[in-house]
Amino acid sequence: MAKVAFIGVGNMGAPMARNLVKAGHEVHVFDIVATNMQSVQGAHMAEQAQFAVAGAPFVISMLPESRHVQSLYLGEKGLLAHIAPTALVIDCSTISAQASREVAHAAADRGIAMMDAPVSGGTNGAAAGTLTFMVGAQEEHLARARPLLEQMGKNIFHAGAPGAGQAAKLANNMLLGIMMAGTCEALALGVANGLDPKVLSDIMKQSSGGNWVLERYNPWPGVAQGVPAANHYAGGFGVDLMLKDLGLATEAAMASKSVTTLGEVARNLFALHSRLGHGKLDFSSILKTIQNHTD
Ligand code: NAD
Repeated sequence: MAKVAFIGVGNMGAPMARNLVKAGHEVHVFDIVATNMQSVQGAHMAEQAQFAVAGAPFVISMLPESRHVQSLYLGEKGLLAHIAPTALVIDCSTISAQASREVAHAAADRGIAMMDAPVSGGTNGAAAGTLTFMVGAQEEHLARARPLLEQMGKNIFHAGAPGAGQAAKLANNMLLGIMMAGTCEALALGVANGLDPKVLSDIMKQSSGGNWVLERYNPWPGVAQGVPAANHYAGGFGVDLMLKDLGLATEAAMASKSVTTLGEVARNLFALHSRLGHGKLDFSSILKTIQNHTD
């Protein structure tokens, strides 16, 4: 079992770190919000990130956006200066492929191996240890990381070279944003026409409109248990994080002249929803804006 430094223990990082503790690793956590660290029982809480990474052969980060990852690792006060050259850094945050490659190059300049390994599966997948990892890395780095990733996830895909994991993740999340908005529209349409949302969900799950949102993340309060909609849209995957991912997809589309018409519509919907004051709620709360609910 290895010493693992885990930086960023929010909605996703905390359950991922808990699974590493459960597997018997010596986990050292750091988060700028000290109370978040307390939710990883059995882990050592570090007062600074540099204390967590000292002597650790594995460093994992799970932060919100590109700028957080860049400021954590880069610059004179950056963490790369404190990480052993023999260590492997695994960044699981969803950030731009460009920012991911920038940090990986800076790490390589110091002889440190780094890979991007963004995840899919939500907070329930993180808790259950069933995440999907989309890895951008050299083969041998992935081979070193695999035993650790297998304790947090069940599907591990090698998307390609550093940055490729992020490219895969952005494509997936653009589709997820479209699918969540579309599923909310379909449910709201049915309910406005007299249907019960649970009955309609059951029908669509077994029909051609069936999808991951209906199966695992029903946005209508009262239809499914254990999802953010059952808890006033608390926790889960924040609206502002989805908006960030849709923005990254737009940037990637502009760089490659790709057509992402529906992705753009979804980005605008989530931007409106965030401006209406719902940025910190789970992204399935987009139902409120689609229904024009102001509460
Ligand atoms: P979150 O906001 O709940 O957690 C992020 C954590 O990072 C917070 O605890 C925050 O305090 C901490 N943090 C920020 N800057 C830091 C720093 N410099 N040093 C240490 N800690 C720092 O976000 P989340 O929902 O856990 O998402 C994390 C990443 O995973 C995001 O990129 C998100 O897009 C992605 N993601 C989220 C989900 C989901 O369902 N929530 C699913 C897949 C991927």
